[in-house]
Amino acid sequence: MKVLLTGGSGFIAAHVLDILLEHGHEVITTVRSQSKADAIKSAHPNIPTSKLDFRIVEDIAQENAFDKAVQSLPDLEAVIHTASPFHFNVTDTKKDLLDPAIIGTTGILKAIKNHVPTVKRVVITSSFASIIDGSKGTRPGYTYSEKDWNPVTLEEAVQNPANGYRASKTFAEKAAWEFVEKEKPNFTVSTMCPPLVLGPIVHYLNSLDGLNTSNQRVRNLITGQCKKEIPDTGTYIWVDVRNLALCHVKAIEVAEAAQKRFFITAGYFSNKEICEIVRKNFPEYKNELPGEEVKGGDYPEGGLYKFDNSRTTEVLGIKFRGLEESIVDLVKSLKSVGA
Ligand code: NDP
Repeated sequence: MKVLLTGGSGFIAAHVLDILLEHGHEVITTVRSQSKADAIKSAHPNIPTSKLDFRIVEDIAQENAFDKAVQSLPDLEAVIHTASPFHFNVTDTKKDLLDPAIIGTTGILKAIKNHVPTVKRVVITSSFASIIDGSKGTRPGYTYSEKDWNPVTLEEAVQNPANGYRASKTFAEKAAWEFVEKEKPNFTVSTMCPPLVLGPIVHYLNSLDGLNTSNQRVRNLITGQCKKEIPDTGTYIWVDVRNLALCHVKAIEVAEAAQKRFFITAGYFSNKEICEIVRKNFPEYKNELPGEEVKGGDYPEGGLYKFDNSRTTEVLGIKFRGLEESIVDLVKSLKSVGA
């Protein structure tokens, strides 16, 4: 298939791009600058431009940002939209988080509908943030699944950056489903809802300082930033980036994935477990890691919500990687950029 992947420079998208190529798809990816296109291109020296090409889209928060890129691809068949801000360096929640998430999502959908009727499948990276009800805390006894929606309001969104991020994902995913309902486009939509995503970074786009948000907790552990106390885990469920990337690709390939949300998680984890995995596999970080007696980072005493990931395993056929494999591969990749 000829596939447009948005935000090809991102942590998750870099893996989506590689799996698309492995599966024989033709990939055109959007990035914000020519230097990012060049970095991706030089990391794939044997892939011709007919298989891997680029379009520059500087800011997805601008209305019509994707029009030019999409108009230049008349026989496009599928779109995977991953680009969206995931960070908490926020001065203006609307401008920094909500607009790029919401306008980015509706913008790509409008561009496809208006300019490329050949597109049949669209996959959007949403999040467990659009499922979980943060106001209910750890919610022991409750089972989260695709039927749940985060009830966050605009008023709550602007209270702090964490709310702002969760709201950005919730509002963007809702806007996508509303678009489908109202506009009845020629294409189907599938949304991917992962919780914390961990796993190896690609060396050619990363530095320790510029690391994506979800892997920062592991970087912080191995660079001695948590020696006195292991931070709270926060979100207690996770998925490996390679499993999640495969879900995105399967979602354009498998007919039954159309018009569905997917809650994509491998299961529970805690920061304390991550710490133990690093201690066991990388003795060279002994002085940077918190000592075995250091407290924090464990599971909550009162218990935790359950999760139902059966749609992902059944429809997309995913077998989840384990935490130890994911953390070992992540730490090795962090070493390759200087950790
Ligand atoms: P990254 O920060 O690595 O990737 C984000 C991508 O979005 C980058 O390519 C970035 O470009 C691009 N982007 C952000 N804002 C804009 C903008 N205004 N205009 C154009 N491009 C923009 O994060 P992840 O790979 O982790 O996240 C990818 C997707 O997955 C996001 O939608 C995120 O919400 C979602 N997600 C991530 C989870 C995780 O734990 N990592 C969990 C659940 C969902 P650039 O790098 O050039 O700024």
